[in-house]
Amino acid sequence: KAKGAGRNDYRFFSPEMDARAHDKLRLENDLRRAIERHELLLHYQPQMDLLTGKVRGVEALVRWLHPRLGLIAPNDFIPLAEETGLILEIGDWVLNTACQQLRRWREQGQTDLVLAVNLSARQLQRPGLDLGVARTLAASGVPAHCLELEITESSVMQDPEQALALLRRLHQMGVLFAIDDFGTGYTNFAYLKQLPLQALKIDRSFIQGLSQAGGDDAAIAEAIIAMSRKMNLRVIAEGVETEEQRLRLQSLGCDGIQGYLLARPMPAEALMAWLAGHAAHHASASDMADTEP
Ligand code: C2E
Ligand code: MG
Ligand code: MG
Ligand code: MG
Repeated sequence: KAKGAGRNDYRFFSPEMDARAHDKLRLENDLRRAIERHELLLHYQPQMDLLTGKVRGVEALVRWLHPRLGLIAPNDFIPLAEETGLILEIGDWVLNTACQQLRRWREQGQTDLVLAVNLSARQLQRPGLDLGVARTLAASGVPAHCLELEITESSVMQDPEQALALLRRLHQMGVLFAIDDFGTGYTNFAYLKQLPLQALKIDRSFIQGLSQAGGDDAAIAEAIIAMSRKMNLRVIAEGVETEEQRLRLQSLGCDGIQGYLLARPMPAEALMAWLAGHAAHHASASDMADTEP
């Protein structure tokens, strides 16, 4: 119990808490209707291959345009969606919408793009997720190897048996898997090596400390990169914001980066123009590199 919490300090019944509980209930009701009211939207953030400089794919990131509160970030409603089970419906919507969007980009010639979609713990525990994914892929004509599902260590560990079985079935279909926010969870390495993974995404917190030489964050990032390479996993750094971080990651042998340095998450309509700009820039940048003595 907190020091000084006397007998009059019944926090649970304070009007303040009551108001907050009320707000939460109201938000939950709003969220329940968000899909049918078309208030959810997706932004897409590019991920670049460090070796080739090419964009490998994009991660779909959900946002909620609330009629009264404005744009709400996923960290402010995904936990509530998880708690209430609404995440299942939202997750379906995200997967369907993102795959339909990828289909349109593929029709415009972007046939190498990999689409990354975040999965929550609840979705991983749902029997039949593999069938849902198969249906979504079939409906959108997106090949399984163009879909990368991002899961976290903790979401997998909530029901390891079920998650492993599910991941294996999806892997058999050709779907790719990445561990998101790697390094922040409680990793069971013996279990991790059984998972059919293709990639690890180093959590942004470790990338921030990369510039301080000799720091713990840098040591952890280096260790994750070294381990990924030995385990034949792609390793992607999240939250890369500076050129210095990019160069450091490149010299450590990191496969890919994602972060504000490259681009912020953007609406689907903006991506084609951004990709064209990036390709043009990259072409001229590699021309220069080629002509260097
Ligand atoms: P995440 O999957 O690790 O996504 C990366 C987050 O880092 C995104 O935040 C992105 O905007 C942010 N980010 C990217 N580059 C940088 C950078 O250079 N600097 C900084 N400071 N941040 C950067 P966002 O979009 O707010 O999403 C937060 C989290 O919400 C995601 O983390 C993911 O765990 C969850 N999320 C987002 N969309 C979905 C979804 O469709 N389903 C589920 N289950 N979770 C989602
Ligand atoms: Mg992610
Ligand atoms: Mg992450
Ligand atoms: Mg995250």
